[in-house]
Amino acid sequence: MTLAAPAPYAGTAVATRPTLTVDLAAIAENTRFFARRTPGEVMAVVKADGFGHGAAAVARTALGAGATRLGVTSIAEALDLRAAGLVAPILSWLNPVDAGWADAVHHDVELAVASREHLDAILRDAPGARVHLHLDTGMARDGVAPDAWAGLCLAARRAEQRGQLDVVGVMGHLACAEDPEYPDATGRTRFAWGLRVARATGLRPSQHHLAATAATILDPLAQHTMSRIGAGLVGIDPTRTVPLGGALTLTAPVVGVRSVRAGTPVGYGHTWRAPTPTRLGLLPLGYADGLPRVASGRASVSIRGVRVPVVGRISMDMTVVDLGDLAVVPGEVATVFGAGDDGEPTVRDWADAAGTLEHEIVTGLGPRLDRVVVGAPALRSLR
Ligand SMILES: *Cc1c(COP(=O)(O)O)cnc(C)c1O
Repeated sequence: MTLAAPAPYAGTAVATRPTLTVDLAAIAENTRFFARRTPGEVMAVVKADGFGHGAAAVARTALGAGATRLGVTSIAEALDLRAAGLVAPILSWLNPVDAGWADAVHHDVELAVASREHLDAILRDAPGARVHLHLDTGMARDGVAPDAWAGLCLAARRAEQRGQLDVVGVMGHLACAEDPEYPDATGRTRFAWGLRVARATGLRPSQHHLAATAATILDPLAQHTMSRIGAGLVGIDPTRTVPLGGALTLTAPVVGVRSVRAGTPVGYGHTWRAPTPTRLGLLPLGYADGLPRVASGRASVSIRGVRVPVVGRISMDMTVVDLGDLAVVPGEVATVFGAGDDGEPTVRDWADAAGTLEHEIVTGLGPRLDRVVVGAPALRSLR
């Protein structure tokens, strides 16, 4: 028996297994958009594995396209980026009081201070830390409450004077920045107040940052020395006003095709019956891969450039589509979502079908998907 030479890699991965393709060129383009849009610096927010796109790849791409800093929630996420070789400034803003502050500072990670307890723990465990004081500007979630702000600023200033701390930033976060009917003037005003208080105690933070993606698009008044951009980098525009490029394409092979009679019930719970004789296609991915079950009966996929509806319940590992007259054969590839350039559904279509936002779709994609990265700058320059 002779062994055939291995099949060329390109194409085969896409045709045989559910595959998520991340286009770094789109992320670079989106980054350039925000770098032009803001007068200050762009912090690339790559929490939650770069919104499901791969934290290190998104970080590297954004830094190569105009971002100057990185932002994540936990110290663990920051250390992963350091381990991947990223040397840009990194801010971590969400940690328990007893986090590994010393390790973070050892790896040159800047830390947000969200309470007096956090400040005391950082002073105790990680002298010399570079910190951003985080003011709650109206979400009652993270950050220091306004009535504790002056006290925190004073304590931080004293520690700075003793040489124990370096307050490099003041930050806030807006609750309603994507709503043009409800510009978050309260949050803006509170942040401006917080900055004045900090300066009155003698602090001189070189960075003050409030705007994320939505405010950077809609609200020039919310822009300070830096914008923290996460969703926008990966093509999500919460304001639905600017053309950003989606960076994900999810494809899956059709693994089965069957003809059914009118009235045939499909899937768990028999939630759908074929209204006419038709052909059904089976896709080997489901809610374990991040397709929201609640989008059953509402979402569609694209095969041969034609949209076909998802029918019956999306189950853990399988999704059924109604092929109608399309003469699809097993092995053909369905595009579950993509950038939308060829009429295929987008992440936004899936989010709309599920009654959620795009962020939840992209960060919920499962580990079982094959992942392929395209559009890296080095590859593009070879072409
Ligand atoms: C996630 C996050 C961001 C990024 O927000 P986007 O709307 O995704 O750009 C910025 N700041 C904080 C504090 C965040 O948690």
